[in-house]
Amino acid sequence: PPDVVTFGETMAALRAQGALRLGGSLGLSVAGAESNVAIGLARLGHRVRWAGRVGADELGALVLRTLRAEGIDTGHAVTDDTGRPTGLLLTEPRLGTLTRVSYYRAGSAGSALSPADVLPALAPGSRVLHLTGITPALGPSAAEATLAAATAARESGITVCLDVNHRSRLWSADRARTALRSILAHVDLLIASEDELPLVLERSDAGESEAVDSLLSAGVREVVVKRGARGATSFTADGATDRAARRVEAVDLVGAGDAFVAGYLSGLLAGADIPARLHRAVTTAAFAVATRGDWEGLPTQDELGLFDEPDGTTIR
Ligand code: ATP
Repeated sequence: PPDVVTFGETMAALRAQGALRLGGSLGLSVAGAESNVAIGLARLGHRVRWAGRVGADELGALVLRTLRAEGIDTGHAVTDDTGRPTGLLLTEPRLGTLTRVSYYRAGSAGSALSPADVLPALAPGSRVLHLTGITPALGPSAAEATLAAATAARESGITVCLDVNHRSRLWSADRARTALRSILAHVDLLIASEDELPLVLERSDAGESEAVDSLLSAGVREVVVKRGARGATSFTADGATDRAARRVEAVDLVGAGDAFVAGYLSGLLAGADIPARLHRAVTTAAFAVATRGDWEGLPTQDELGLFDEPDGTTIR
């Protein structure tokens, strides 16, 4: 069985070199929060399965081919036969590391994900199910799929990880809160950015420590808060562990959060303690920040140590 099962919408990504409205050439790749995590984990040597729905089109073939090339099991991925296309996003660099992303995903194959698409992908013996708060925002059947998978995984003793990943273009904070709180009852490991914590609380004005306490007493075993260039903190019933980010020249921040999750789950699967999990997480995140693309620059196991080499090292 795979170590980790994940699912969600992966789209084709067209990357412009300058302002989109000026035209010019675009580079074609793929993008999706869950598949970014899947690629990060596969590169670190873990067995990963990705489930989801793609269109019966060339972009859907690109998504599946890319994931397979990264060693991910796509055997449970579904190709939509009702004419829904693979979703698409366009990115344009605007100012420094500020990037604008435009989505063309309404009515996509990926957003039509259903419980029947994902439940068969949950294998007995898997250790982690990774979910994001993007999937339940895609539509009612995708929301049902997320809740059904979290419920089934929890019942079979699979650790359920949820990265809040709020997308305000897809839904309001109130709709997100209602959906995420129903999933939260089945979550073991909750990962959120500092500004996303209020989204999973009954009261949105709670401070961070109050927020964490209420999550831990509601049955979440661990809460990890991502703080951008300031690093991250893990909270459990035993207390808080802070970790600074690694110092790198930031080139492209998109995908840092997903890379962080891949590193964190990799540490968890390897049986590492919390400080060592955070160390791996900020290291994989730093690779994402220092390289272009959401997932292209993620490290293999052998490359993790590159951060400890002096600047300017040539590897021969
Ligand atoms: P996104 O959704 O944009 O992928 P996020 O909001 O989920 O990101 P962040 O907290 O921005 O997540 O970043 C995740 C991790 O990436 C941080 O905990 C940190 O380790 C690393 N990171 C982010 N920005 C920087 C930076 N400028 N320099 C070094 N590390 C960074």
